[in-house]
Amino acid sequence: MINQERILELFFDLVRIDSPSLKERDVAAYLRDKMEKRGYVVREDKAGELSGGNTGNLIVHVPATGEGDPIAFSAHMDCVQPCIGVEPIIDGDVIRSAGETVLGGDDKAGISVAIEALSHLEDESIPHPDIYFVFSICEESGMHGAKNMDHDLLPVKDIVILDSSGDVGTIVVAAPAKSGINITFTGKSAHAGIAPEEGISAIQIAAEAVSKMNLLRIDENTTANLGSIQGGTATNIVTESVSLTAEARSLHDESLQKQLDHMEACCADAVKKIGGEYKFEYEISYPALKVTDDSKALARVEAACKNISITPKRVPTGGGSDANVLYGKGYNAVTLGIGMSKVHTTEEFIKIESLTSCSELVAEIMKS
Ligand SMILES: [Zn+2]
Repeated sequence: MINQERILELFFDLVRIDSPSLKERDVAAYLRDKMEKRGYVVREDKAGELSGGNTGNLIVHVPATGEGDPIAFSAHMDCVQPCIGVEPIIDGDVIRSAGETVLGGDDKAGISVAIEALSHLEDESIPHPDIYFVFSICEESGMHGAKNMDHDLLPVKDIVILDSSGDVGTIVVAAPAKSGINITFTGKSAHAGIAPEEGISAIQIAAEAVSKMNLLRIDENTTANLGSIQGGTATNIVTESVSLTAEARSLHDESLQKQLDHMEACCADAVKKIGGEYKFEYEISYPALKVTDDSKALARVEAACKNISITPKRVPTGGGSDANVLYGKGYNAVTLGIGMSKVHTTEEFIKIESLTSCSELVAEIMKS
């Protein structure tokens, strides 16, 4: 049986350790100690050094005790702010924070579930194939842990990521690609009263471009948004420079590219009409994730759900996670709902029952 008392103790320990992005070292030390005491090899990669953090990702190897394809489980150690001094409280059948901080169930619930599932297999001497745990850093601040992960430490194709809201049984099978965008319009400054005809207003170029852009909900799979606009100094100067930041996301890589091309074309047209210059720069942070029907990882998770009478539910999501990055690197990444709710707010909570039933599911996936 899954041990509710044991997982609650672990979960409470973890959420009480401060771990904002780039500062996950104390949680990493706790987990390393826990795993090494059981005799497992824990390795730390260089992702911390590469991303400016105080620890790398931890990769734990649990040697096989039975047959079957190896499998990895991943959860991130960092939390979004405010996450310093989390005080978890049991409130009826849920766990929440005292109210000043997030709970940090995102994603310490994922870590707890993975470890409790393993403990369960150990308790009952249930055979399992090679299992790897990835405890990643900096997921919340741009998936820098996953992006800088040392893949030589993770010799497995299938990876189950324990990091989504949604009831236990939820399986994220699609997640959008995302691109960050920086746009700069350069006009020509001039005295606005004496010689405005000698100037080119960057604000007018930007306005012309933005007014022609399709933004927000583009279609069922694609979104785009302008995040900020900055420029200008004084009313008596024709504005020389305006810069904007934006993003675009899509479940289809081609649609994302189409949206980026469209936004750039609006900038080019505006410059053609008003004058001046533009610079349109973008970087695709991670590719679209698409778990296909023939995915072995998906089949393995769905079979485990059925074995323990949980109804699997395939869903798309609008946000990116470590799953996108790992998928982009060739892993078969499937993300599970672990029951966390209202994440990234101080109202975040998780049902106790979600922790135990998710542990049961993960244990079932681990079995040979
Ligand atoms: Zn998360």
